[in-house]
Formats: sequence, C-alpha cells, structure tokens
Amino acid sequence: MSDPQLRTPRVAIIGAGMSGIGMGCDLRRAGIETFRIFEKWDGVGGTWHANTYPGLHCDVPSRNYQFRFAPNPNWSRVFSPGPEIRAYLERVVDDFQLRDRISLRTEVDEAVWDEDRHVWTLTTKAGEVSEWDFVITACGGLVETRTPDIPGLDDFEGARFHSAEWDHSVPLEGKRVAVIGTGSTGMQITKGLAGVAGHFELYQRTPQWILPIPNRRYTRLTKWAMRRFGDQLEPLFFAGHQKLTEGSFGVAVVQPGWQRRLLSWMCRKHLDWTVRDPELRRRFTPDDLPMCKRLIIGTGFYQLFRRPDVELVDVGIDHIEARGIVTTDGVLHEQDVIVTATGFNAHQFVRPMELVGLEGRRLSDAWGEREPYGYRSVAIPGFPNVFMLIGPHSPFGNQSLFIISETQRAFAMGWIERWRRGEIAWATPTDEAAERFNAEMKQALPNTIWTSGCSSWYIGKDGLPSVWPWQASHHREILREPEPADWLVEQPREREPAHA
Ligand code: NAP
Repeated sequence: MSDPQLRTPRVAIIGAGMSGIGMGCDLRRAGIETFRIFEKWDGVGGTWHANTYPGLHCDVPSRNYQFRFAPNPNWSRVFSPGPEIRAYLERVVDDFQLRDRISLRTEVDEAVWDEDRHVWTLTTKAGEVSEWDFVITACGGLVETRTPDIPGLDDFEGARFHSAEWDHSVPLEGKRVAVIGTGSTGMQITKGLAGVAGHFELYQRTPQWILPIPNRRYTRLTKWAMRRFGDQLEPLFFAGHQKLTEGSFGVAVVQPGWQRRLLSWMCRKHLDWTVRDPELRRRFTPDDLPMCKRLIIGTGFYQLFRRPDVELVDVGIDHIEARGIVTTDGVLHEQDVIVTATGFNAHQFVRPMELVGLEGRRLSDAWGEREPYGYRSVAIPGFPNVFMLIGPHSPFGNQSLFIISETQRAFAMGWIERWRRGEIAWATPTDEAAERFNAEMKQALPNTIWTSGCSSWYIGKDGLPSVWPWQASHHREILREPEPADWLVEQPREREPAHA
C-alpha cells in the first residue's frame, strides 16, 4: 500500500544491465511503481547480454556477484559462466516483475532539464518524448567496442568480429582462428577455443600477469545447503568473499604493502612454475607490475600452449590482408576467423546520450575538454536529480560491481525518498564540491598501482586512471549520507505537482 502522504516520483533508468535492473528492484521494493527502464539493446543483462564469447565467465566470485536481496543458491561454480549470470539477471527481472517496465530497443538521445517545472524531458532516438523527476544513468562502462587501428583490417576475406559482438553463425570447429588481444577476454576465449579450433593463434602485444585462483565447482551438498539455509549462509558467504576481495585486491591496488607483494609473488610463481620452457616464459613475462593492468584471474591458461594446435604470436602485427595476418617479420598467418578482443572505449560512460542541465549546461561540454568527472562517482554538478551508477571514478578493478552499484543505488534512493517526502524539489552537487573531490582523488592516485607505468583501459585522456584511488570501504563511507554543504538543494514550491 502506498502512503498517501508521499509524493510519487517518476524515475527514468537508462540501461537494463545489472545496475538498471537493481535500481528497478530497489524502486519496487520501496513501493514506487512510476519508473521505466530504457534499454537500447534487444535484451536485458547489459554486458552479460552483449558478451557471449566461448569461455565467458566472471572472475569475481558468484556469491559476491549477485543482488543481496536475490541470492541464487544454484551457482554452479565459484566463478560463474556468463550464461548463468545472464539467466540469473533474467530471472530477477521476472521475479520483480520488471518486464513491462523495460522498453527494449529504445535508445535515449537526450534529456533536458526544465528549470521552471523541475522535470527532465527525455527524447528517444525514435522521437518519443516523456517527462521524469529523476534520471538514473545505468549505461555501463564497457559498452562501446574498440576496433584496432591495424592497416588492412577490412581487407580480410574470412569472418571477423569483436569479442563483444560474437557471430555465432560462423563455424569454428577445425578452423584457423586468430584472437587479437590478451586482456581478460582474450585469455578466456583462448580457454574456450583451444581444442575446438583446428589451429588457434593468440596475438599478444603486451603480456599480462595471471593470478591462479581455481574455479571450483559447487557440490550438490553446497547447493542443497544454500537452498535450505540460504538465509543464514548467503550473508556469511557474501561477507566472507567481500572481506577477502576487498582485503586483498582492494588494498593491493591502492597502497603498497604486503597484499601487493603477496599477489605479485603469486602471479610470478604461477608463471615460473607452469611455463617450464625458459624462452616461452620470457615471452609471457610482462614488463609492468602485476595489477597495473586489471588482473587476470584463472588457471590452466599457460598449459594450453603445450598443445600443438595452440600458438602464441608475439611478433607485432604489420597489417591484415585478404588471407590473414601479416606479422612484422613478413610471415603471412592464414586464418579463417579473426576475433578482435581489443577491449572498449571505456571512458564514454553516460555518452553519447546528451544531458542538458542547469542554465543549459551540456554534458558533452562538461566532459568534452576533460576526462569524465563527477562527484564521488554518483552525480555531476549542474545536472539536478541525475544519479550515475558505475559512473566515472567508481571503484572498478577486480571487485564486485554489484556492491559498488548497491552503494550508489542506495545513495540515489536516499534523494528519491527526500523528494518523495516533499523535502526537496531537486539536488545537485556544487561545482566546488566536485572540484574538491577531483583534487583529492588526483592527490591519492600516485599511491595506486595503476600509475606505476603501463597502458590500460583505466587511463583517461589526462593520462590518469579514472578509478577510485581509495579502498572500496571509503566509497561506502562517504556515500552513506550526503554532505549537506556539498549540495545545491531547491525546496519544492507550493504549486509543484505531486503526480500522486
Ligand atoms: P582489454 O583489457 O582492454 O584488453 C585489450 C587487449 O587488446 C590488450 O591485450 C591490448 O594490448 C590488445 N590490443 C588493443 N589494440 C591492439 C592492437 N592494435 N594490436 C594488438 N593488440 C591490441 O580488453 P578486454 O580483454 O575485453 O577486457 C576489458 C575489461 O573487461 C577487463 O579488464 C574487465 O574489466 C572486463 N572483463 C571482465 C571479465 C570478467 O571475468 N569479470 C571478463 C572479460 C572482461 P595492449 O595491452 O598492448 O594495449
């Protein structure tokens, strides 16, 4: 039953990935029905909808990579395969009856703030117009695929696609397959295709460190216990995994200390002990420090290169021609299929959607000259009642985005509840607060491993990593309650409609 004293906020959520689905569930759980989730793709699940490559799985433990309010007792492994995560998200959408709130194939073009009426007017690419009190951006971070600038890429006459746009109509069994890129994706595809492809070549421009954590299967007993005693066990598992992840990776990346030394030692020993051939070991040894790039997690990768049908190519790519890849030593590597596992333009965030906020301030201008920025990863000064989920400077890395998004969703819900109780008409962080936050961040960045000298998708055009430079617990602490002095808040006017 909705409380008649409360106003009814209209909330537009942009994106039906993990964060957007979570926000929809939070609103439903708070008794708010007036929301809509706009999704440009033809299905829900975000990254787990787009990525369908062989070998796809999550390298964050499943018990930590789920909504706390919707635990899944049936995860098959500690690190779940991608299709299981997608099925889980679909199930949450059904369980929370979000289906009819989601508009698929509906891309939002722009949102314009009406200063007089205190509403956002959204226009979709198809020209549909609607009005909202809040805009929650849940657009994802790794969406826009990056095509490598390799000469002749379009001349290739076989099949070619990006890892996040897998063409399942292309047969792979017995074929000559090349994968370009050795990030988490390239490594996982190698494990998925070794022994399937007739001949598999992995093109490595920069070697990567791998932390050997085995992906254990959950036993039938564990699954039964989770089904039977989930209410007691899930919070324990969740807390345990979180403590372990945040106390290890979370600390190691932001400050020097034993966690950094231990994880580095594990990566180095993994390489030493698994690759016996000194020449191959040399070729697999990175110049940079473990964790400078996002750490790859898993076992069994190096061993695949003992197979006669799996080959590492670490001579540079000169160009691509109709028959295959020509390396800088002049050798033509004939291929049937080329997969570019070359990552994403990871600094788009909310864009290309345009936001026009207070006094006509445009997001494309605010983020045009400088790296995308905001206030404490959740809001942008000048854009009232807009909250970002997994926005710039969120604590990415090897930690669960579910937890980070949960913190940001709770913060956004706090403002929505204030609006609902009639305490505010709109709120946005001040420019000064955002600048102060950004200055503090820049000061903390040199302590992090990401600035130790490597190229990675974390680094923005200002040459700095766009990542939270403190521990994730600090993220939760400073987003627990808004700092009143940091916010510009407008009180509701008498005549303001309540949409009740
Ligand atoms: P990535 O980490 O950005 O790696 C891209 C790879 O492509 C790098 O090895 C890069 O080499 C190479 N590359 C780019 N341009 C190239 C060129 N012109 N010639 C040759 N090589 C080129 O991308 P990703 O592997 O897709 O991973 C991105 C992120 O997605 C991950 O870091 C992670 O956050 C997320 N992800 C997560 C999981 C998971 O299990 N949770 C799985 C997959 C992906 P250089 O290093 O030399 O630039």
